[in-house]
Amino acid sequence: MANASIRYGARIRKRADAVKVQKIARYKCEACGRMTVKRTGTSIWKCSHCGKVYAGGAYSMTTPPGEMAKRQIEGLNKK
Ligand SMILES: [Zn+2]
Repeated sequence: MANASIRYGARIRKRADAVKVQKIARYKCEACGRMTVKRTGTSIWKCSHCGKVYAGGAYSMTTPPGEMAKRQIEGLNKK
């Protein structure tokens, strides 16, 4: 029982670390091409170079469902 709870706690901690890394990660600005887009609030991303604001996921610039939709649209355009 004790072992199970320790393992559960470690898993939670690992996931929290991943979220922290994504929060401070920088992304490429589509407007100026620099890696200066940072998270400034929940779902708000801003380029510190040119000031362009993007709406993205809460913890990362792009959300998996959004990426999937983008790929599907790109696939449709190729046909
Ligand atoms: Zn920019």
